[in-house]
Amino acid sequence: MSLAIGVDLGGTNLRIAAYRDLAARADAAARGAGGDAPVPVVQHKEPVGEPRDPDALIARLAAWIERVAAEAGGAAGANVPVGIGIAAMLRDRRGTVANSPHLRWRDVAFGERLAARLGARHPLGVYNDVNAITYGEYGLGAAAGAQNVLAVYVGTGIGGGLVVDGRLAEGASNCAGEIGHVKVAWDDRAAPCACGGRGCVEAYVGGSYVQRRIRAELAGGAPSIARDIATRAGDADVHAGHVDEAAALGDAWALGLWQELAPLLGVSLANAIALVNPERLVLGGGLLGRTPVLRQAVVMALEVAAPGALLEPLTIVEAALGDDAGLVGSALLAARGVSTIAS
Ligand SMILES: [Zn+2]
Repeated sequence: MSLAIGVDLGGTNLRIAAYRDLAARADAAARGAGGDAPVPVVQHKEPVGEPRDPDALIARLAAWIERVAAEAGGAAGANVPVGIGIAAMLRDRRGTVANSPHLRWRDVAFGERLAARLGARHPLGVYNDVNAITYGEYGLGAAAGAQNVLAVYVGTGIGGGLVVDGRLAEGASNCAGEIGHVKVAWDDRAAPCACGGRGCVEAYVGGSYVQRRIRAELAGGAPSIARDIATRAGDADVHAGHVDEAAALGDAWALGLWQELAPLLGVSLANAIALVNPERLVLGGGLLGRTPVLRQAVVMALEVAAPGALLEPLTIVEAALGDDAGLVGSALLAARGVSTIAS
């Protein structure tokens, strides 16, 4: 029996799960066998909370990892690899956090410090959270069996990850797959983005931007049944899900908004597909999950924009592992020794 531990360190929650025989299961899934979502042997979840200074959080994490490993009952003396998917921009393959607005960290040698605490028994890999999620879907989720995968998550922002020829593409500075920051506008009216740039697709189609736009247009008097839909649902705020329902009912304002936004994401996806030539495109995230009309419009825009030779091998699928994708992916990456930090 071989154990591997996955950690999902986000801005809100800290989650840890131990899995059994994950790499063997992923090998089987790649051959088309199996396919059930992996169930952890032991798992734990708690709020990241305070304090967030690196020393305190690294000590807490190390303690939880030891505890979960012990409860999972790893064979005495056997190594239990640990993979961490972290909501951060990483600088290198040693888990150095360049910047994490979620954790309020800048320039933290997170990987090396945690590896030093964990010691040789827990070979450690630190991965960007969306890369870990992508790898989870690739190994044991919606993209199992594919060798070239583009995964794109539209939640409050837009994140992406790439698997190329069966390997996670992390990139020279760990930013491969950052599709949220491809440009869809470049004149002086281009929308400012959280990354500091302007005109990024995320600044138009990312959930928090879409929300702001909806609020502003409705406050400005846009005629729409989306307000009634929200009221009937007992929601004080009109959100993208209500707008999508309105669009499904033929609401002109809602349809107009979706018809404006969908091509921006659809063309960004088509451009990424032209570079990567994936056979599986995984779409996920909170926004697309509750906006089927928008999603369909995005896929249509993509199919218009992408050349036929690239569409022919492509299947578009919904993310299958939900909130566990990052845990599964980081554990599987560590189990396979991808970018493991020597302690
Ligand atoms: Zn940006």
